This record gives sequence, structure tokens and C-alpha cells, in this order.
Amino acid sequence: MTVTVPSKVNVHLAVGPARDDGYHELTTVFQALSLTDTVTVSVAEESSMHVAGEGEKIVPRDERNLAWRAVDVLAEHLDTTPAELGPVRIALEKGIPVAGGMAGGSADAAGALLALSTLWKLDLSRDELTRLAGKLGSDVPFSLVGGTALGTGRGEELLPVLTRHTFHWVLAFAQRGLSTPRVYQELDRLRDVGDPPSAVGDHDVVIEALASGDPHRLAELIGNDLQIAAVSLRPELRRTLRAGVEAGALAGLVSGSGPTCAFLCEDAESAVQVSARLSGAGVCRTVRVASGPVPGARVVEPDGGP
Ligand code: ATP
Repeated sequence: MTVTVPSKVNVHLAVGPARDDGYHELTTVFQALSLTDTVTVSVAEESSMHVAGEGEKIVPRDERNLAWRAVDVLAEHLDTTPAELGPVRIALEKGIPVAGGMAGGSADAAGALLALSTLWKLDLSRDELTRLAGKLGSDVPFSLVGGTALGTGRGEELLPVLTRHTFHWVLAFAQRGLSTPRVYQELDRLRDVGDPPSAVGDHDVVIEALASGDPHRLAELIGNDLQIAAVSLRPELRRTLRAGVEAGALAGLVSGSGPTCAFLCEDAESAVQVSARLSGAGVCRTVRVASGPVPGARVVEPDGGP
């Protein structure tokens, strides 16, 4: 049973003050991108996890892996134990950078949830799956649903945004990942010592720009409050962001908590040109072209492939 699941970019990310529970109140507009991970599950003699592709050496293979936690959440939902459900082999083929601000771990959790519930014929509705996804992490429901959506709360309360147009992106992967909690702490610190201006405006106008399909209009509005914190921790990102625009992108921003930089391009052809120029600029580890919106987690190979 093989499921493919998208990455995301936050085209708009407004971060409110820290709440009593330590989380920040967010208003975000997510877009699911064609850069994907693949999750394959099968019944096995013994449970095991296999990881290949992006960041394979640093992804945990044990219960810290978010895809494993999907087994626990399903068992809990069925009022049983993982042992009762039986051993499974979970294989991740990663295209999404690890700790890159593109929700790679959340994608694998959403993929595992859909793949395992299909493998075990649990017959869960999309709504039930989305509720279980919320237990695995704030970004997991969006990985399941995909498309373009407005997220509030911790980002897990979703409202779909209708867009009939495809947008073209270039993604610059950094040498090393960034820890999401560390980036939020840095934002809190910067807000404590000064008053950094918010990088974002009103989400309604962003949604209108998405609906218009005009990348020039959207380019003027994309923004991320976490960018200032990511750049503070990794000053070299400033150079990457500049290089993308110099390479011909309409605008660039740090994706989520970073350090991946996402550049909005005029069209598919321009994205290919920007990616070639950016690769030659030596300001990042890897460059990828992607488009969005794309659907959320979906079964591609019911029998797990050849
Ligand atoms: P987000 O955008 O949701 O804040 P991220 O994309 O920045 O997250 P992830 O790739 O999800 O970050 O990884 C964050 C950490 O989670 C990693 O450092 C890794 O130790 C752990 N992790 C757990 N499961 C996975 C997984 N399946 N893939 C990648 N990392 C995982």
C-alpha cells in the first residue's frame, strides 16, 4: 500500500503572541506543493522502518518518527494495542527536506495514517482521519487534505481556499535543518528585546490574490513572521533570498520555520530558469522546482508496488 503526500509552503504566516500552553496563535495560508514523500506500508513478520532519500541519515527509525506514531493513534482510536493490529513494515521515500519548514515529518504521519487505515481496511471517513491527524501534530491535518487552506489555532483548524490556478515555485534547500521550537523561541526573544515589524498583512487579500491566479499580485503579498527569526539564526539565508530574486523570481520567503527558501515564479518556464541560475549561485545545497496546489495524501499503489 503506497501513499504519496505533499510538502507545504506557508504563503502567509502571521504569528500571534505565545499562549499559556506555550503554543503561538497562528493565522496561515498553506499551499500543498508537488515536492512529495512516499509512504509504503505492508504486513510483515516483524515491525520495521526504512528511510531513503532526503536526509535519510538523520531521520529517526524508532518511535520518535511521526509515521510510527500513526500506528499508536490508530490503535488508540480502535481501543486496541499496536501489537493487536500486527507487525508492519513502513518505508519512507523522502523528497521533502528534513527540518526544512516544509512539514516533512507531518507529511509522513499523514501518509502513514492513510496507508495503514487502508491496509487494515478500517473504513475511516476523511473527517475521522483528519481528527486523528490533529492528534499527531498541527500540520498533519493539512498534509492529509492538501490544496490551499487557511489554518488557524495552531494551524490545525482548516478552511479550504478555492484556487483554480497553479503557481510555480523554486525551493532552495539549506545545508542543515532548523528546529521549529528554536525558531519560535528566537521570535519571542526578538519581540522581547525590540519590536520587529510584522512581515505580513491581511490574510484576506492573500486569499483574493490566490483566487485571481495572478502570481505578480500574490508576489507582493507573501510574507512570514517567522522569517526574521530564521534569518537571525541563519544570517546566510539573506543571501539566498536575494539570489532567488536576482535569478528572476517574483518574490521569495522562508518556508514556515525555515531554513528552506521558497521563490514564487511567473510561470513553469521561468521556474526552470530561476532554478538553473540559483543552482549556479552557490547559496544553497539543492534546488527543486515545484508547483501547487496539489492534493493531499492519496493512495497511488494499493498493492505496495512491484
Ligand atoms: P514543520 O514544517 O512541520 O515545522 P519541518 O519540516 O521543519 O516541520 P520535519 O522534517 O518534520 O521538520 O522534521 C523535524 C524533526 O522531526 C526532525 O529533526 C526529525 O528528528 C523528526 N522526525 C520525526 N519523524 C520524521 C520524519 N518522518 N521525517 C523527518 N523528520 C522526522
